[in-house]
Amino acid sequence: TKSPVRVAVTGAAGQIGYSLLFRIASGDMLGKDQPVILHLLEITPALKALNGVVMELRDCAFPLLADIVTSDDPMVAFKDVDYALLVGAMPRKAGMERGDLLGANGGIFKPQGEALNAVASRDVKVLVVGNPANTNALIAQQNAPDLDPKQFTAMVRLDHNRAISQLAEKTGKPVSSIQNITIWGNHSSTQYPDLSQATVDGQPALEQVDREWYENSYISTVAKRGAAIIEARGSSSAASAASAAIDHMRDWALGTPDGQWVSMGIPSDGSYGVPEGLIYGFPVTCSGGQYQIVQGLEVSDFSRGKMDATAQELSEERDEVRKLGLV
Ligand code: NDP
Repeated sequence: TKSPVRVAVTGAAGQIGYSLLFRIASGDMLGKDQPVILHLLEITPALKALNGVVMELRDCAFPLLADIVTSDDPMVAFKDVDYALLVGAMPRKAGMERGDLLGANGGIFKPQGEALNAVASRDVKVLVVGNPANTNALIAQQNAPDLDPKQFTAMVRLDHNRAISQLAEKTGKPVSSIQNITIWGNHSSTQYPDLSQATVDGQPALEQVDREWYENSYISTVAKRGAAIIEARGSSSAASAASAAIDHMRDWALGTPDGQWVSMGIPSDGSYGVPEGLIYGFPVTCSGGQYQIVQGLEVSDFSRGKMDATAQELSEERDEVRKLGLV
């Protein structure tokens, strides 16, 4: 049997955590043969609630759950961790400007980056879920100079999965028939869900839906899906966010299926004209625990405009956190 790996989750007593932890512990993320030790970080006032979650985790008697560590100190919670899912973040409150939001999150992600740098496994794989996820990932990365910048990623997988499900619904085909959708850019309303390479049953998706629907309905439905769920459910899309986090980490760790790609927010290497260093959604394949950007895709003028707009937003967020001295 394999020896356990250590998986940190921050904001572990929150809504996403409540869905995420049970799936990690049951083997959905790293495989049904991989024992895990959960390292759960919360802010001090949430430790009591976290203890309740720990009681439930224990009561599931998951065979793969080898141990649980809890703390309100990232230097303790991140000790030797192989995976870190950074979920806890400061939500945007009414009247908050982008600078306020980025500043508040800097207070969380700067010390977390420093702690990962100091005590995590040298191969730690980091996924930032807490919003604004791309720029929070940039802050953590820039405060972890001893780790490879490529170890820091942001989640656009929920957008990717939403893009699949919307196309499946429109075409009346199962989600399993859909391949090679890309979410470019920021996990925000400027994201670009791109169908130009997508296929349904092996045939080009854009030959099966009309262009007007794609440009004027589909893209905004995917981008605004979170708000639609809050409106319907009265609270945010925590279970699907957790499921997407599982998908992101599983594919990164265990690999993507042959001939298919997924979308991950990763540091740009300049591919497709995206400014280097931005944490930007790209099409990637994974194998051996590494991701590679899918190269050589044709970019139409329509795509170029969308890809540049979301890059522009991320550049502005980077400028803002530079001004705040966070990166
Ligand atoms: P959730 O668990 O619902 O959400 C956590 C973060 O995930 C938010 O930033 C949220 O962004 C983001 N997110 C990303 N995608 C989605 C999505 N599709 N749907 C919903 N959220 C998404 O928040 P809770 O308030 O329930 O829990 C947060 C927990 O984090 C609390 O227990 C708090 O104590 C903790 N926390 C811990 C910190 C730490 O460990 N140091 C620091 C800060 C908070 P958005 O706000 O945009 O929805």
